[in-house]
Amino acid sequence: MHHRFCEKELDTVYDAFYHEFLAQKNMSSFFESKEQIGKIAEKQKKLLIDYLEHEIFDPALYEELGKSHHDRKIPFLSICEAVNFLERATISLFLHPETHGDSVESVIRYYEEAERFIAKGYFFNDMHRFVQTLTKKRNKSNAPVVAHLMKIHVDWMMELDKIVQKEPLDYDRLEAFIETPCRFGKELDMLKEHTHTCEEFDQIKREHIEFHKDLYVLHYTLKREDYIRAYALFQEIKTLILEIETLLFVINIFDISEELKYDGLTRAFSKRMIAPILGQEVELSRLAGKPLLVAMIDIDDFKRINDTFGHAFGDFVLAKLVRLMQRNMRRSDYLFRYGGEEFLVLMPNTDLEGALRVLEKVRRKVHGHFFKQGNRETRFTISIGLFEVDPEWIRSIDGIIEEADKRLYEAKRNGKNKVVYGCLPR
Ligand code: GH3
Ligand code: MG
Ligand code: MG
Repeated sequence: MHHRFCEKELDTVYDAFYHEFLAQKNMSSFFESKEQIGKIAEKQKKLLIDYLEHEIFDPALYEELGKSHHDRKIPFLSICEAVNFLERATISLFLHPETHGDSVESVIRYYEEAERFIAKGYFFNDMHRFVQTLTKKRNKSNAPVVAHLMKIHVDWMMELDKIVQKEPLDYDRLEAFIETPCRFGKELDMLKEHTHTCEEFDQIKREHIEFHKDLYVLHYTLKREDYIRAYALFQEIKTLILEIETLLFVINIFDISEELKYDGLTRAFSKRMIAPILGQEVELSRLAGKPLLVAMIDIDDFKRINDTFGHAFGDFVLAKLVRLMQRNMRRSDYLFRYGGEEFLVLMPNTDLEGALRVLEKVRRKVHGHFFKQGNRETRFTISIGLFEVDPEWIRSIDGIIEEADKRLYEAKRNGKNKVVYGCLPR
């Protein structure tokens, strides 16, 4: 085809592009120098001439242009504005009465294609960079639940990125991949059962479904090579991923605080829970006028077990003992790991008699139990100091523990394997 234009005329278009469009503050700030901007304008002109004169159009060039502009963090909207600007200016050159309508059409086609392949560069670059960022974050996450979910999610995204980035795009493979349910969805259901943060899990589930819907549309737009839509869609997908990630971190914080409540070895309440729970129970006891009993339990001659069988077996015994004690107490009783082999028991709504009955049973059960792991086996006893809290008397949480401790030492002094009880003199 032949176009009636001379390069001189096109110069006016690209001069305007250089002096008016690229010179705008919001545009020029993306570039290092005026020369660089001049080079860009000059290059654009050559590409247009190549197309109009020789019908040369190399998509890879535009894709590359898209990538480099994306790297410069130039918003894609600015690219659209630039294309609009050039298109309008170029068309007005060809709107002379004697000019063929063809020329206008091919100018429009040129800019459409240019924009489409620049969008392709944006899309591919954006996706790749985003998945890279996710990968880095994944390696930083140290909370087990989040790390696990993030890992399978990011692995999936990496696989998707690998398929999408491969030239030429294997649509069948992409389709098969998109249509296969991902592991993240399945594991999310499993994890939901182990958490206290159901609302967040449900929300993640909803966002995750949206995410897959968007991906389905994305794969279809790629099939039609509609890169502008693909890029726009990917922005939504990114938002969904970041939302899912944020929710995972919320769950993580819940889980950490849940984890902090319990002692890691025995799963009894941790020592840090004593003050808040005991404080609350003292208050309830005062208000309701109900008795509150606190006991300190210590394993007798535990050193011997460690020395004879090793520390690992000692640990095993501690965990086992907690389960044995919990089985023989009421659900409403609290068992805390106070120190190494010392436990604090809090028995709300229990009178002295009831508490003694329970603790005697616990003492007897422990005494009669064989703690066995592999070929190692042992028996031992526990000593218990029981103290009845008088809420009107009590000065501090530490004061309560001290009183229970006193009774425990008495039990030790009197030969161990005993429950010693008492209350403050009234
Ligand atoms: P007593 O009858 O007077 O209570 O004698 P004991 O040997 O139990 O007394 P002591 O409190 O002096 O010793 C407790 C031992 O418990 C010392 C320590 O090595 C051990 N221990 C503390 N924490 C742990 C733990 O987490 N795991 C294991 N395996 N041993 C622990
Ligand atoms: Mg001991
Ligand atoms: Mg001790």
